[in-house]
Amino acid sequence: MSRMSKRVPDHYFRLSSFVSLFDSGLPILVYHKLGKAPLFSRRKGLFASRSLIARQLAELKDAGFEFGALGASGMGRKIVITFDDGYASSFEQAMNVLSDCGCKAIQFLVSGRIGQANNWDETKERLMDKLQGTDWLAAGHSIGSHTVTHADLTRLSEREVREEIVASRKSLEDTFGVAVNHFAYPYGYHDERATAIVQEAGYATAVTTEFGVNPVATNQWKLRRILAYGSLWDRLNRKLNAALSKGRLRI
Ligand SMILES: [Zn+2]
Repeated sequence: MSRMSKRVPDHYFRLSSFVSLFDSGLPILVYHKLGKAPLFSRRKGLFASRSLIARQLAELKDAGFEFGALGASGMGRKIVITFDDGYASSFEQAMNVLSDCGCKAIQFLVSGRIGQANNWDETKERLMDKLQGTDWLAAGHSIGSHTVTHADLTRLSEREVREEIVASRKSLEDTFGVAVNHFAYPYGYHDERATAIVQEAGYATAVTTEFGVNPVATNQWKLRRILAYGSLWDRLNRKLNAALSKGRLRI
C-alpha cells in the first residue's frame, strides 16, 4: 500500500463507481489550475496536482474511455477533457501528461486577457500567451471561447453579451488562425438570452458548470460538466451519494 493511499479514502483514486454514470451520457470534465494551491487559497479544490491529473486520465484510459472532442459523435466510451480560463499552469503542467495518455483537450480562453493574468478570482495566475496557445494547438489540442473579459453574462446588457460572445470568437480566430466553435460560460452562469446569442453566433456547443453527464438529447448549448477537482472521484462520490439520499439524482 502506498503512503498516499493510507491517508485518503480508497475511492479518492477509484473511477470504478462512476463508470455506469459515465456510460449514461457524455461526461465532460473541467479542470482549472494545475499545481499546488497557495496556502491562503480558499478554493484549493480548483487546483489539481500534475500527478493526480495523470492518474485520473490513466484510469479513464484503462477503463476504455476515449478522449474525444466536443460536438463530435462516435461510438464507444467517450469523455471530453476541458480546461477553463487558459491558465499558463495548465499549459505548462498538462502538456506532457496529456500527450503521455494520448489525450486531446480543449482550453477555453479569455480573449481579452491572453498573456496577462486573471482578474476574476482571489488567486492571480498567469494566463497562456499567444505562443503557448500556438503550441497547444500544434500538439493537436483545441481552443474555445470563454468571452472577452470573463464577465457574468447574466448581468450585462444585450449589447455587451453579444460583444463578449461574438468578439471573443473573432479575436481568437484572428490570433490563432483556427476556427473557434465552442464556448464556455464564465462561472457557468447562463440564461436563455446568453444561450440564444451563443447559438445565433454560430457556436456548435456551449458548456456550463451544471453537474452531470450529457445523454444524446441534451441541448448542445447547455452541456453539463463535472468539475475535476484534485479530489475528483471523492467529490463525485459525495455528490452522487447526496443526490441519491435525496432521491433526486439527475444525470
Ligand atoms: Zn472561467
